[in-house]
Amino acid sequence: LRSDVAFAFRPSPAALRRLLSALAVLEQRDGKLNAGSLSAVTAAKQLGGSVHGFIAGSNIKAVAEEAAKIEGVEKIIAVDNPAYDKGLPENYAPLLVENIKKGGYTHVVAGTTAFGKNVMPRVAALLDSQQISDITAVQDDKTFVRPIYAGNAIATVESTDAVKVITVRGTAFPAAAVGSGSAAVEEGVDPKADSPTEWVSEDLAKSDRPDLATASRVVSGGRGLKSKEDFDRIMLPLADALGAAVGASRAAVDSGYADNSLQVGQTGKVVAPQLYVAVGISGAIQHLAGMKDSKVIAAINKDAEAPIFQVADVGLVGDLFEKVPELTEKLKKA
Ligand code: FAD
Repeated sequence: LRSDVAFAFRPSPAALRRLLSALAVLEQRDGKLNAGSLSAVTAAKQLGGSVHGFIAGSNIKAVAEEAAKIEGVEKIIAVDNPAYDKGLPENYAPLLVENIKKGGYTHVVAGTTAFGKNVMPRVAALLDSQQISDITAVQDDKTFVRPIYAGNAIATVESTDAVKVITVRGTAFPAAAVGSGSAAVEEGVDPKADSPTEWVSEDLAKSDRPDLATASRVVSGGRGLKSKEDFDRIMLPLADALGAAVGASRAAVDSGYADNSLQVGQTGKVVAPQLYVAVGISGAIQHLAGMKDSKVIAAINKDAEAPIFQVADVGLVGDLFEKVPELTEKLKKA
């Protein structure tokens, strides 16, 4: 009889899904939503329960209303306080934790961005959860897929934590559309935690070219470019002809040819554009970790044995100083 009773009260899969509720952490900068957070929303939706968005900063009303239009989000929790503008983890993590506890969320999802990597481990520690980092797929509400060893192995991990704290690889989840949603905007709780760190200033690399992390075309240069002058002379016209973002290998960054914000790879940015053009890059595994999911990979290298050709869909063996300007001219005429 006891087992009959238990059976009678066991929640159905549909009811279980109703018990799931995810909070997607929405990053904003100067009133603009970050694309990485929109990928986090997509992952949160795949969990199968309700999805709320969380946003904080000064004059948050306008961006919260913009966030309310994200498709599939039922509610936006907004906290208006300039103390959260720069996403300092010391006060942002306790802020998030208070709102997670208040909302009784089962999952908290953020992008694997500098902000997500900074804030979410603290949130996980405060909730006594084991963070699940940089996922590339959601199998079910407790099982996730994530690359390890710089993408050379794929782990499927299962979490039994009451609150699952997750960061999401942006290239693996399309950004949720902003447009037809009509979420309610609700004021969140603000614990006004003190931060022992203070925001002093920032020095951002400015560029009119597309953003490397989200561009649909990327042209990357490596050590084969030989100098900063040649990197700029060869790579920038190619990028302009293709309307592409510029990337670089670590060797090019370490040699001072390109800014380190342009580094692609294991210790740089992970990109998956429609087209990735590798110029004078050998194709070390640490570089491949950041670009091998690109849809079409084209490589230009004078060494026919360079490992980049093993992942390239299109390869051109030749001297980049000759071939790239020729290609750029042809693209300009096309
Ligand atoms: P090289 O390996 O020196 O290759 C230069 C290529 O240019 C060669 O293939 C050569 O044939 C070609 N070339 C030269 N001249 C010409 C020419 N005139 N025309 C055409 N081709 C030419 N690397 C990254 O890129 N990103 C990372 O995030 C990263 N993280 C790392 C993390 C760790 C822990 C470690 C240990 C390494 C990491 N690296 C990373 C470094 C990586 O191992 C390689 O050293 C680096 O990617 C090499 O860069 P490269 O291909 O530009 O240079």
